[in-house]
Amino acid sequence: MPDSPLSGPALLARIDALAAISAEPGRLSRLYLTPEHRRANDLVAAWMREAGMAVREDSLGNVIGRYEGDRPGLPALLIGSHLDTVRDAGKYDGMLGVLSGIAVVAELHAQGRRRPFAIEVIGFGDEEGTRFQSTLIGSRAIAGAFDPAVLDKRDADGVRLGDALAAFGKDPGAWATAAHDPAEVLAYAELHIEQGPVLESLDRAVGVVSAIAGATRLAVTVEGFAGHAGTVPMTLRRDALAAAAEMVLAVETLCSGRERLVGTVGRIEAAPGATNVIPGRVRFTIDLRADRDALRLERVAAVRAGLEAIAARRNVGIAFETLHESPAVACHPALMAQFAAAATALGLDAPELPSGAGHDAMAMAGLTDIAMLFVRCDRGISHNPAESITAADAEAGARVLARFVDHFQPASDRAP
Ligand SMILES: [Zn+2]
Repeated sequence: MPDSPLSGPALLARIDALAAISAEPGRLSRLYLTPEHRRANDLVAAWMREAGMAVREDSLGNVIGRYEGDRPGLPALLIGSHLDTVRDAGKYDGMLGVLSGIAVVAELHAQGRRRPFAIEVIGFGDEEGTRFQSTLIGSRAIAGAFDPAVLDKRDADGVRLGDALAAFGKDPGAWATAAHDPAEVLAYAELHIEQGPVLESLDRAVGVVSAIAGATRLAVTVEGFAGHAGTVPMTLRRDALAAAAEMVLAVETLCSGRERLVGTVGRIEAAPGATNVIPGRVRFTIDLRADRDALRLERVAAVRAGLEAIAARRNVGIAFETLHESPAVACHPALMAQFAAAATALGLDAPELPSGAGHDAMAMAGLTDIAMLFVRCDRGISHNPAESITAADAEAGARVLARFVDHFQPASDRAP
């Protein structure tokens, strides 16, 4: 009797087989609409067929396996994640979610069981946005929120997305056909590595995601006055970098001590940038995220006020530019409860935690109710070849997902 498809070693063997498909020898880089994407889709499609699914590939290159319910044509529970990677990626981000979904269906198929709903497992073609600098292309298309202007985006070699689609064997004019009909969908569930250190610090294998954090990104420009580092006395300076240094620490202070809120200054540039010149202008970025929009907006206002006060006291100018603003996306409480119950039934305690990173589930929330299950990963490392999980945790995640599917009920406000 072969191992269950849900076994940790079985899952990790497939992770390794998929991770071997890369554009670069010795490291994993698999970008949207490349020959590697084609090979990955073909391998995943073969596994889907083996698990009893009918496979199709939509107009944006998403690969979709469908396992019918008790009778053909029933609305579907969607389970998915992405098959593209960043450059020099880890091998679990995205892929674990797709392979876990296939394993859950393979187990049902092996046992000759069907559910009173269809199951569709989706391998999204592009989540990371590495090639065309536009994230969530695959899931946005399925959720009916694809912006056709994206077809004109170009990669680093100048290749238009629309032309890359055609080279992949797709009709770029048919993008709208990828959209799912909301009436045919019951919910969307995604299993994903946490990409953060919280589960590890709590010594838990899996966690139930409460929401995908909303984010505000600001560019801040501080205007001082450049001058000779030797001749201008300290009392007469308007040093933009010294002011910015105080502001960076203020961001840290203002974003500390509040649960599920984080703030980061990730980039800073000082001009003119010479050893013997007082910095006249500094630009830096602020990335602020929270799982509640009210908290995030309140802190953005507090940060702006705090930085303006520093600027006034130091007699430097300050200007803010909003680079990005996205609301938090909540997971459905009824589905969260079903994931938690599935974990409990397997003897696992699954704490609730927000996702600080974006996921396909964000786009899918425009189509249907969403839920996410996080699996612990080593030191929270992700987007890095050092990404790692244990076979036991991979199996725990897949078994919780299987149990969730076995007991799945659409959220009451969406029952057919
Ligand atoms: Zn991911």
